[in-house]
Amino acid sequence: MAGILYLCATPIGNLQDMTPRGVETLRTVDLIAAEDTRNSKKLLNYFDIHTPMTSYHEYNKVEKAKYLIGLLQEGKNIALISDAGTPAISDPGEVLVRMCHENQLPVTSLPGPAACITALILSGLPTRRFCFEGFLPGDKRERREILEELAGETRTMIIYEAPHHLAGTLEELYGCLGERKITLCRELTKKFETIIPMTLKEAAEYYREESPRGEYVLVLEGKSKEELRREKIASWKVMSIEEHVAYYEEQGMDHKSAMKQAAKDRGVGKREIYAYLHGSST
Ligand code: SAM
Repeated sequence: MAGILYLCATPIGNLQDMTPRGVETLRTVDLIAAEDTRNSKKLLNYFDIHTPMTSYHEYNKVEKAKYLIGLLQEGKNIALISDAGTPAISDPGEVLVRMCHENQLPVTSLPGPAACITALILSGLPTRRFCFEGFLPGDKRERREILEELAGETRTMIIYEAPHHLAGTLEELYGCLGERKITLCRELTKKFETIIPMTLKEAAEYYREESPRGEYVLVLEGKSKEELRREKIASWKVMSIEEHVAYYEEQGMDHKSAMKQAAKDRGVGKREIYAYLHGSST
């Protein structure tokens, strides 16, 4: 009989958040695949778990998945854990789960903490409709595209960010999305947990001066229906190109994004808008 892959959530800061079923499973499986075995050793020591561990991370996720699939086929039970929180959420894991499905191997989940949901429910922003972006892509073009998509997003948005990139990301978000509410959720479930509701402009200004410390989740307000309605009314057809670009700048977009958006609305290339406004294309 094939073994089972257990996706086992672990605490995001407070070890008491580990579930009894999670502890029991980690004790009884044949192997634990962990993102960082040194890091997970602390968790295992705390709960007196002595199951062997193997590493499963971003850089071996395909090759190692094949090996783990082989073990599951031999009947071994495996638990997958990440550094913190729910495996496969901004962590490797997705590949292994997909390969289990492809090989008709059973997968089950042991739910528990996830920074995204913890932040969302603490944010005070609408929870009925939300989207999770994880980390914004590092690649400039891809990042710009995502930011432009997010500018029109009406659902609450959840974004992960490392502290050393926080200030830059807040500036970018403000430049692209304009003024709106944001809740910064810092060090969730830990001693210095801090929930900071502010506006995007305030957040960008604040972190220009302050160095962020600890782990952060950003929860952003979606675009309001009213704003969307206003945008529809302010149809480009009744505007000059200058007015059209200025309209988006008033919404908080930077000049380049405003020109790009105006070009998109008009179904023309962005170079045409640049050329019209600035005399030459860029
Ligand atoms: N798998 C994890 C989960 O379920 O949320 C996410 C891991 S991801 C590699 C790490 C990011 O999650 C951090 O950069 C931060 O944005 C967020 N994060 C994790 N733990 C956190 C905490 N205690 N407080 C705030 N953010 C946290």
